[in-house]
Amino acid sequence: MYKVIIGLEVHCQLKTNSKNFSSAKNTFSEKPNTDVSPADLGHPGTLPYPNKDAVYKALKTSLALNCNVPDEVIFDRKNYFYPDLPKGYQITQITKPMGKSGYLMVRVGDDIKRVDIHQLHLEEDTASLEHFPNFSLLDYNRSGIPLIEIVTEPCIYSADEAVAFLETLRNVFLYCGVSNADSKKGQMRCDVNISVMKDTDTEFGTKVEMKNINAFTTVRNSIEYEIKRQIEVLESGGKVVQETRRYSDEDGKTHTMREKVDAIDYKYYLDPNIPPVLLSEEYISDIKKDIPMLEFDRINKYINDYELSLYDSTILAKDRSVADYFEKVLDFGVDPKLSANWIITVILGSLNKLKVGIDDFFINPKMLSDVIKLVSNGELSQNHAKTILYKAMDTLKNPLEIIQEQGLKQIDDSNKLRPYVIDSINENNDVLMEYLEGKDYVANFFIGKVMAKTNRQANPKVTLEIIKEELEKRRGENEKK
Ligand code: ADP
Ligand code: MG
Repeated sequence: MYKVIIGLEVHCQLKTNSKNFSSAKNTFSEKPNTDVSPADLGHPGTLPYPNKDAVYKALKTSLALNCNVPDEVIFDRKNYFYPDLPKGYQITQITKPMGKSGYLMVRVGDDIKRVDIHQLHLEEDTASLEHFPNFSLLDYNRSGIPLIEIVTEPCIYSADEAVAFLETLRNVFLYCGVSNADSKKGQMRCDVNISVMKDTDTEFGTKVEMKNINAFTTVRNSIEYEIKRQIEVLESGGKVVQETRRYSDEDGKTHTMREKVDAIDYKYYLDPNIPPVLLSEEYISDIKKDIPMLEFDRINKYINDYELSLYDSTILAKDRSVADYFEKVLDFGVDPKLSANWIITVILGSLNKLKVGIDDFFINPKMLSDVIKLVSNGELSQNHAKTILYKAMDTLKNPLEIIQEQGLKQIDDSNKLRPYVIDSINENNDVLMEYLEGKDYVANFFIGKVMAKTNRQANPKVTLEIIKEELEKRRGENEKK
């Protein structure tokens, strides 16, 4: 048997107004070379100016991932030449990264796994290259965008674990508001390092690196392919070569890009143009206060404190705005299970249909809590409450106002309901005949009729009781004849 060892290096672009060391805009623009400053092009005489917001967001992510943060912010130069790096060096961190020795708790199906974080550092993104058959083009818009790199320990043991980690990590970025982490825009990308070893081996096998994978499905596919390939190599008596491979969606295989020679010497040194900035304890503790309760902990809370299922808790905690909305509804004193049901069935469904986010949704937590309370008091039926909520979405009127205007509360009084029942029976003689012939189930037919007559206000349970009474009465009369 073989064991699989995976370590990930995740890059994530931070959401800031300007770039990491220049005042050019940090945007995802379709038009190449429009958001560029001389510093991003490495022009001589330009100086880097660190972006305070990028530093803040990098530290925030680092603390959210339970890392140790440094006592000062300093940057290093990593020297190499490549067309996408006009300065000839990348400003990054090696001496004192923004975070060290952290971890992230991850749900993998029903299991819980701890993924250890080796380090998190802040650097600048490179320009992007687009290759054509006979030439390549450079877009410097990406050059200098703040980028954090998160390196895990080799502690991930399957494709499922890798993907679950990436999804949980992406949610940390979103919860903390540090990045949109849209992999389609290349805002979140990852390098996958993978090796296999025999159960009985004491040392890791030789690792292969797959660079710059955006989509999580590609992470999964490339890992699954590599596991098979590496085991086949070993089984046939060969050796896995340490190299960089590229996964191709076209054939579902990985292909050699370059063999890894000895480690490249980047001649790192402190960037002399960026003075160190000391981090006060107060500053760090302010950032800590700014970190919301994250998805993993909210799911635990919903299960343990509110007795929700893992399934429901996961749906609610997936999106921070939805989780916040849910918790606000609870603040108005609504039962957690009821609240969860209403949000999952009615609210999320409507958001989907209307294509709006919950923060822009007309039905706010107060309105929803008012309606749910009327249902739990028995003043409003479930169906009725739904009708009112949908009406409120259509008309942009407060649900309570609609209830007041239309007197739409549920009718439970049997004296009020009986005339509707009698009318419904009289108007549908053919159905009555079927009942008299012994088809008891047709009683349900009359509920719909009464609902229509009462604008769906009738209490269905009471209505059915009256219907049965009235039908039995007629059966008795019929038998006497
Ligand atoms: P390198 O010096 O080759 O860049 P590092 O030690 O810096 O390697 O690790 C880079 C990434 O590779 C990390 O995410 C680490 O967890 C992972 N890694 C290291 N060794 C292995 C291995 N034998 N198998 C799989 N992943 C590994
Ligand atoms: Mg490395």
